[in-house]
Amino acid sequence: MAIQKMNRRDFLGTTLAAGLTVGLTTTPLFSKTRADKAKSALIVWGGWMGHEPDKCAAIFAPWLKTQGFQVTVSETLDSYTDPEFMASLSVIVPIWTMGKISKEQEKGLLAAVAGGVGIAGHHGGMCDSFRENTDYQFMCGGQWVAHPGGVIDYEVNIKDHRDPVTKGLKDFKMHSEQYYMHVDPSNKVLATTRFSGEHAYWIEGTVMPVVWKRMYGKGRVFYSSLGHVAKDFDVPEALEISKRGILWAAGQG
Ligand SMILES: [Zn+2]
Repeated sequence: MAIQKMNRRDFLGTTLAAGLTVGLTTTPLFSKTRADKAKSALIVWGGWMGHEPDKCAAIFAPWLKTQGFQVTVSETLDSYTDPEFMASLSVIVPIWTMGKISKEQEKGLLAAVAGGVGIAGHHGGMCDSFRENTDYQFMCGGQWVAHPGGVIDYEVNIKDHRDPVTKGLKDFKMHSEQYYMHVDPSNKVLATTRFSGEHAYWIEGTVMPVVWKRMYGKGRVFYSSLGHVAKDFDVPEALEISKRGILWAAGQG
């Protein structure tokens, strides 16, 4: 990244990250087991503001603190370039729709997850983040491609009643974007939605994953497509699923 293209915050972030990395290259990474780690979460928000990433971060950051996590809230993807910091985390909550990620930032994020740091996100903030980065999508297990009809009424159907993330929850309704996604068949799908065909007749009856979990190396990966705007988390089930997913990804669920 050329210096002249960076804003002051990015520049300072990079400088700081570079400074912190000096002298730490011999530190063994990921040497702590999950149980040894203090509960520590990183929320990185930014990208397209129509998804209200700041408001969504403000939902999950204080809640994570009540769960005993040390929480870092960052507005720069450069947080991913500090290997020691990344390896110290229990879970990463990315809230960053579209935008671009540099090779170094992506490498840092994927190395952390592959090494055992959990990741848990929602809607476009995780699965419509960096459209050019297939390695990132391989980790996520899906990529948004459409939301026919825009904000509509639809139902979410719980498919796994034993998994801790969806246990005890019943089917529920949303008034939001119904995400049509290209998904990885290796996901463990916990909830789905059915497309009526009203807004795209050729997909009538298609059943699409809404909530899933998977592994990426040693890291736990959780995703829910609910949460177009912060108000969507007023739906108790949508909020509960994301909270439980974050705890699961952090090794707590
Ligand atoms: Zn959206």
